[in-house]
Amino acid sequence: MSMKMNYDKKFKGKGLRKCQICGNSRGLIRSYNLNICRRCFREVAKDIGFEKL
Ligand SMILES: [Zn+2]
Repeated sequence: MSMKMNYDKKFKGKGLRKCQICGNSRGLIRSYNLNICRRCFREVAKDIGFEKL
């Protein structure tokens, strides 16, 4: 449940090409200005309003 806070904090870094949550560089989603992997995307999707994905 604290993942959203963790996400907001780490997301301030720029130029990183790895997941801002778990650090995985594979399966990254750079759409929507996000730098997170598909797995973490599903976790945060609910918080940022992408429930349909
Ligand atoms: Zn991740």
